[in-house]
Amino acid sequence: MIRNYRDLTRLEMEQVDKDETIILIPVGALEQHGNQAPLGTDDIIAEAMVEYLGRALEEAGEKDFPILAFPVIPVGLSTEHRNFCGSVTLRPDTYYNLLYDISVSLARHGFKKLAFLVCHGGNAPIVQVLSRELRSELGISPFILSSGAFGHPDVRATVTPGNVYDFHGGEMETSMVMAVDPSLVKLETAQAGIPTAFVGNQTLKTGGSVTIGWVSEDWKTADGTPIGIGGDPAGATAEKGRIILETSAKVLVPGLREIRDWKA
Ligand SMILES: [Zn+2]
Repeated sequence: MIRNYRDLTRLEMEQVDKDETIILIPVGALEQHGNQAPLGTDDIIAEAMVEYLGRALEEAGEKDFPILAFPVIPVGLSTEHRNFCGSVTLRPDTYYNLLYDISVSLARHGFKKLAFLVCHGGNAPIVQVLSRELRSELGISPFILSSGAFGHPDVRATVTPGNVYDFHGGEMETSMVMAVDPSLVKLETAQAGIPTAFVGNQTLKTGGSVTIGWVSEDWKTADGTPIGIGGDPAGATAEKGRIILETSAKVLVPGLREIRDWKA
């Protein structure tokens, strides 16, 4: 189990080894994930990842791993989803400054190792820029972890054959929410989203950095309605979600060990 930052008393916090302890900061989002998955999908996955990560560390023999979980940052950079009902976004500079101020506060208390757990791809560019600035300005060591091992063969194997565009709000993310609480997912209202931009252009592949320009309006249902999700979530199950969460957590363990052992 990973201890929560917010659960410690001041006295307990004073006793934490600031040189080696990693502050894990999950950065989530509050944005549409189609008709079937909740707006808080990324936040729900973020919380689950902290739990699964705690278990993965224990299974790897790391009972007293020096790590504290910061509260999930519940809103992120969701510009590409702003036109879909319910999505809430910060502006890039607001988001940068929010994370910057939190980091400065943590550094003031002596923490040297911050690990941002990116649970929404749209947050990544800001976290990357921020990490360089923090390192340069404060001399601390920020690290960036990805919450989902979406390229891992065990994770890819959970995706229904033929569901080639599985992406934002698709089968994998929906499955992960189901693993946490199946009642939060309404599969009966699910629709499939397919990309319309760049379709047929063989030089552009889904999932690669070249597709970063895609906005969620580019994903449409078969009748052309913007849907903002990739792939077909119909095949999502809680069991698949458990496999994805477990695999993604396990993959992060070696990196966390490296961060722990890293000396500034
Ligand atoms: Zn998401």
